[in-house]
Amino acid sequence: MNDHYTVKAFGAASKDDDLKEIIIDRRSLQRKDIEIDILYCGVCHSDLHTARNDWGGTKYPAVPGHEIVGKITRVGADVTSFKVGDLAGVGCLVDSCRECESCKQDLEQYCLNGSTGTYNGKDQYLNQQTFGGYSEKIIVDEDFVLRIPENLDLQAVAPLLCAGITTWSPLKHWNVKEGSKVAVVGLGGLGHMAIKLAKGLGAEVTLISRSPDKIQDALDLGADSVVISTYENEMKAAAGKFDLIIDTVPYDHDINPYIATLNISGTLVLVGFIGKMDDALFTPPMILGRRSVAGSVIGGIKETQEMLDFCGEHHIVSEVEMIKMQDINKAYERMLKSDIRYRFVIDMQSLKK
Ligand code: NAP
Ligand code: ZN
Ligand code: ZN
Repeated sequence: MNDHYTVKAFGAASKDDDLKEIIIDRRSLQRKDIEIDILYCGVCHSDLHTARNDWGGTKYPAVPGHEIVGKITRVGADVTSFKVGDLAGVGCLVDSCRECESCKQDLEQYCLNGSTGTYNGKDQYLNQQTFGGYSEKIIVDEDFVLRIPENLDLQAVAPLLCAGITTWSPLKHWNVKEGSKVAVVGLGGLGHMAIKLAKGLGAEVTLISRSPDKIQDALDLGADSVVISTYENEMKAAAGKFDLIIDTVPYDHDINPYIATLNISGTLVLVGFIGKMDDALFTPPMILGRRSVAGSVIGGIKETQEMLDFCGEHHIVSEVEMIKMQDINKAYERMLKSDIRYRFVIDMQSLKK
């Protein structure tokens, strides 16, 4: 194995194990690398999917965490854009080929040679899986490190690195602007950021949720209206209304009722569930109304920086509940019950003691 050092982390040894404190390797600082002392790390539903191997392909031990903010403690000899002491963010990507058509267009998330995930990717230096932000420190190439607006509350910034960019990217790609009619399905970590960001762009925003007890929260977050998906009359009243729907539901669900709420030429973008839907797609709305069903994954580095800067200008951050690293397993159980308003963030000091 190449040169490395060790840090404390929290990881799962198998899909059936709770996360526990473990020791992991970090590669030694390369010339373009930055070492970040992790202060806060958000808890994404993808962390849970990965720890429990919901998508298959998880390598163990698995150390999740891709909503990372911290302070730079060391920089390699060729680093030009950051210095020791700067705040820094790391999202879902730590590398890509940088040469393919996607990378050339700042779409590293769609790298044709496979981008490197912050966790469960492949660390080329150490020839092992990458380990995420549930750890004391991380080493990342400067090209994949984000600048954090200084005016925002640092712990509430962390979730922007995944929940923020994952909802921002489709809002921008589908050209959401003043007056666009946007619906967000599911009020969780991604959903609440989608509401804030769509409002920031001037859209008229509706939450579609299973949970009547979240109506007031959604309005407080800026939504203009709420549709409860299990109330047939409310879904009927929303028919043909939306230009864009961002569907954040993590598990298999019937999307046909949501498609019925799209306007002519509208698009439903899946960002949550990855897998085969049991309910077949009912095609008339697409054929007779030029509607689309699409998907989207996170966002590129340039776009992530644009989102962070936008959040700095518009004072947009996540609603967070702070937890200790040792409480992560309880947090996962609560996340499965949607009992979090709206993002857990780990205070990494708890791991360093
Ligand atoms: P989350 O905080 O758990 O929120 C998910 C929300 O979906 C819940 O609050 C709930 O909202 C709704 N929901 C949950 N289970 C449901 C079910 N069985 N049927 C219908 N609605 C349900 O999760 P998150 O962190 O926002 O992540 C959401 C999904 O996006 C996860 O699958 C995650 O892996 C994925 N993700 C994708 C990307 C990407 O790049 N595409 C990036 C990050 C995360 P209501 O109570 O309002 O209905
Ligand atoms: Zn995520
Ligand atoms: Zn590439």
